[in-house]
Amino acid sequence: MTRDGRPSRRADLHLHSTCSDGLWSPEQVVQRAARAGIGTIALTDHDTLSGLDAAAREATAQGLELIPGVEISVEHPSGGERHVLAYGIDPSDRALRDALDENVAERSARLGRMLDALATVGVRIEPERVHEHAHGTIGRPHVADAMVRQGLCKSRQEAFDRFLGDGRIGHVRKRNLDAARAIAVVHAAGGVAVLAHPGRRWDPALIEDFVRVGLDGLEAWHPSNSASDQRALTSMAQRWGLLLTGGSDCHGDPDGAEMLRTHRVSAEVADRVLERVASARAGRA
Ligand code: AMP
Ligand code: FE
Ligand code: FE
Ligand code: ZN
Repeated sequence: MTRDGRPSRRADLHLHSTCSDGLWSPEQVVQRAARAGIGTIALTDHDTLSGLDAAAREATAQGLELIPGVEISVEHPSGGERHVLAYGIDPSDRALRDALDENVAERSARLGRMLDALATVGVRIEPERVHEHAHGTIGRPHVADAMVRQGLCKSRQEAFDRFLGDGRIGHVRKRNLDAARAIAVVHAAGGVAVLAHPGRRWDPALIEDFVRVGLDGLEAWHPSNSASDQRALTSMAQRWGLLLTGGSDCHGDPDGAEMLRTHRVSAEVADRVLERVASARAGRA
């Protein structure tokens, strides 16, 4: 509650479901958010819009506001994968869906390359075992789940620490959508594009590259951003007129409920995203 007795308005603009690598269904994501006192959420599954309909129905039932979202894996021209959060997109937009399908196809192709790489160190996993854990876009977390099921690791986290984290044997790079193209497609679908979890890997030159191709915002509040990251990102946002967004990036892991409580942001953050979506649409109309 706020001091004047009104319920505090909270938002979480970064959430995953079983449509990508989260452990909760879209409905459960909405229910858990409602239970954590969050009034506005964005479902941002990796490279897919497939959870948005179910989430929207449950949001209506729970009296929650849902901003349609997606987290797109993109290729920065200097090399290296980055994630772009899109908000306010039209989930039926054909060009957006086609572009996301390219990333999804590459994810499927990469799975075979990952399992081959793991086999070189004696870790043998059948693709069918991985597919058992994937109910949407497939990725490293589903390989981790298969490893846990086979008794090779105790948790997703251990699987990442030993085999799948960036730079480990099982982390096989994939080709992602070009960053400029992804942002253009998001704009054409009526949305805004935000650089996800800049964390410690941001530098002003990288962010300026994204700004030059139309970036609208920076995810300032994320579990991997420190307080000094947040200050630096805030000042860059002022310099370039960018939105600041935030969320838990909750994947429904055992500490999921706690993540929702710890990393929610003020609903004004969501209000500003929606204002930017509306003004960008009016400007393009
Ligand atoms: P992928 O998109 O298949 O490359 O998998 C990336 C996903 O794996 C991220 O969205 C996270 O959910 C998860 N992930 C990446 N790195 C780690 C890590 N070091 N520990 C735990 N999970 C991770
Ligand atoms: Fe993920
Ligand atoms: Fe991400
Ligand atoms: Zn995420």
